[in-house]
Amino acid sequence: MNRDFRLLIDGEAIAGASTFDVVNPATGAAFAQCPKADAALVDRAVAAAKHAFPGWAATPIEERAALVAKIADALEARAGEFASLLTAEQGKPLDQAMYEVMGSVFTLRAFAEMRIEPKTLRDTGGNVVIEHRTPLGVVAAITPWNFPVILVMNKLGPALVTGNTIVIKPAPTTPLTTLLLGEICRELLPPGVVNVICDQNDLGARLTGHPDVAKVAFTGSTATGKKVMAAAAEGVKRVTLELGGNDAAIVLDDVNPRQVAQKVYGGAMANAGQICVAIKRAYVPEAMYDEFCDELARLAKEAVVDDGSKQGTTVGPLQNRMQFEKVKALLEDAKARGTVLAGGEPLDRPGYFIPPTIVRDLDDDAPLVREEQFGPVLPVLKYADIDDVIRRANDTDMGLGGTVWGKDLTRATEVAKKIDTGTVWVNQYLAIDANIPFRGAKQSGLGGELGESGLHEYTQPHIINAVALEEA
Ligand code: NAD
Repeated sequence: MNRDFRLLIDGEAIAGASTFDVVNPATGAAFAQCPKADAALVDRAVAAAKHAFPGWAATPIEERAALVAKIADALEARAGEFASLLTAEQGKPLDQAMYEVMGSVFTLRAFAEMRIEPKTLRDTGGNVVIEHRTPLGVVAAITPWNFPVILVMNKLGPALVTGNTIVIKPAPTTPLTTLLLGEICRELLPPGVVNVICDQNDLGARLTGHPDVAKVAFTGSTATGKKVMAAAAEGVKRVTLELGGNDAAIVLDDVNPRQVAQKVYGGAMANAGQICVAIKRAYVPEAMYDEFCDELARLAKEAVVDDGSKQGTTVGPLQNRMQFEKVKALLEDAKARGTVLAGGEPLDRPGYFIPPTIVRDLDDDAPLVREEQFGPVLPVLKYADIDDVIRRANDTDMGLGGTVWGKDLTRATEVAKKIDTGTVWVNQYLAIDANIPFRGAKQSGLGGELGESGLHEYTQPHIINAVALEEA
């Protein structure tokens, strides 16, 4: 690709200290060069954000929100360009890339509508106590490679609307769409309000440990999230961590197995399974286990696994070689322990392709069941007793999401209440919405994003507690 990508620091488009290759996961070959920051550029980006903060925080919220809405408009106007670059760097089929880009537009628009009003906690005439919310300062936003566009918006929108400035660092394997967003921000916003730097997994610690960063908004793996939390401890920085998941789907015995298998398949295989809240293990009643597994296998065999830029592709490659190797290893192990009904072999072609794979007859302690596979390989497990399957679903350190499938909505909802995660969807999956809070339980996260409480995470309470002076 003959295109010049630049970092964004203090309103300037910067070539970076060096460059590195960005690989198209559908070919395994480099297709673009990304500018790379160094420690000095990280410091410059944080200094620019710090310098811009007082002016931005003092800008009326209506003006800040209007600018966020303008970013959304500019993104929409360039949606096709964003989507094809997203497919090239991330691998997802073009229609799914477009869905992510338009979801990003709607997310920013939703944040542009949100407000936090001062809250009167007490008003006795003599004593008035009001809770205001003030911005924190410089936010470091660190994102992963599975949804490189929308996961930035979940941070950018609330940070800007509430009056913070931001330094964004995308994942090294999917940096380009974030740099494109930087181009938009450069045109629309005052210098330093939004800064974008790129690294090769080497500058995150400098950013999170930087004394002038007030908050770290992180989305990524639980292992890195722990490092972020440790780095933030020194400065008692605010952190929000959106981490990994091992979401269970519990299928109840009153459903039509074919109908629900289709939905579970969609929840497991979208984005080639690389979704924090993808269905990562399915629990199915004994009586319908064979039929359910066979329907999943039929759907898996129908998948069109190919380069996401080709029309008709339903499943693209894994995003990077490391993830490809990780999923391959889990798959090899699962093949020895269970029965593979569909898929099972990486494609013999360049790129990181693993076809949708359905594995049955695994024990609960199989690594494919216990670990987050983050790939298109679904273990399907049998159950006999509802209380026991709830226990099995909860038997993990993860607690991000989950799904329950049942015709009797009351009963399905009662089961959902017993699943120990931040979100449980009933008869649907991935219903993430900018107006509904999203947060992980247990080791899946700390704090959260989206909704009014997500907006609060970018502010601190500022209590003004006033009484009148008595007559002298
Ligand atoms: P990762 O943790 O390897 O990387 C995430 C980001 O952290 C990248 O930008 C990386 O460069 C950066 N990073 C690496 N080392 C760092 C350090 N020491 N300090 C600060 N930043 C550092 O995660 P990944 O492999 O890119 O993403 C996949 C993971 O993300 C999965 O576990 C998935 O479940 C999770 N995820 C969670 C959510 C959610 O909302 N909960 C959403 C998407 C993905």
